[in-house]
Amino acid sequence: MATYAMTGGATGIGAALKEQLRQQGDTVIVVDIKDADVVADLSTAEGRTAAVDGIRAKAPDGLDGFVPCAGLGPHVGNPGLVARVNYFGVIATVEGVRDLLEKRRGSICFVSSNSAPMIASDDPFVRLLLSGDEDAACADVDAKDGQTAYAGSKRAVTIWMRRNVKEYAGGGVRMNAVAPGITRTPMTDAGMESKDYGEAMRMFEQMTPVGGSAEPPQIANAMRFLLGPDASFVCGAVLFADGGTDALMRPNDF
Ligand code: NAD
Repeated sequence: MATYAMTGGATGIGAALKEQLRQQGDTVIVVDIKDADVVADLSTAEGRTAAVDGIRAKAPDGLDGFVPCAGLGPHVGNPGLVARVNYFGVIATVEGVRDLLEKRRGSICFVSSNSAPMIASDDPFVRLLLSGDEDAACADVDAKDGQTAYAGSKRAVTIWMRRNVKEYAGGGVRMNAVAPGITRTPMTDAGMESKDYGEAMRMFEQMTPVGGSAEPPQIANAMRFLLGPDASFVCGAVLFADGGTDALMRPNDF
């Protein structure tokens, strides 16, 4: 049976994946700011260190997979905090557990979003994220808005993944990303209720080609595929699990 670690397993998509993996007999180490095996705040450097140390202590023989799923939505009213959790928290934990994944030729499933292509890959904020300058990136986006923070962080995480595919694969570690569309989770419920984002999110939901929004297990199904042996030749892929919305928005691009 496999041993996985994930961040953000307390609620939503991460909790659904945790349940599915545990159901099939796998061990899942959950890092989260609440209700977790390792309680850590991924918006801070100390929290990221505690997260990696906690995983290391619980999986000394290595990991078969890692899922940096913790994230905040655009509605939280603090764009810099979104960047800290959704980009810097992700990259720090991925880098921190890399050797554990190499021990067992494990895989990583990043959690992007169908929002990621909505911001240019050469946007100044995306470039700042990719440069690794956390304070500069957060200051930049604090003068912008939550949607830029969210889409930009997801864009940058996905680019980081693709840039590093070869190096990680050299150590036996496959990396892929799932890009969910609107999925009914506590994050989405809060977004739907916000005055800044609620109306746009409802409109987006109505546009979905297959209709409506996903339930968390539908996204977890795609993530289990990317993580597991059935995807052994899938590497560097971004799997849109969004009911066709990305195809609708970008019909001539792939
Ligand atoms: P959620 O709010 O249910 O889950 C997010 C998890 O992250 C929670 O368990 C939360 O406690 C944890 N978290 C938040 N801040 C943290 C911090 N500072 N330190 C540690 N843990 C922290 O939301 P969700 O929708 O299940 O989101 C999961 C992932 O899926 C996120 O990365 C999100 O951006 C992504 N996503 C969600 C949707 C959607 O429509 N729900 C769409 C695309 C991508």
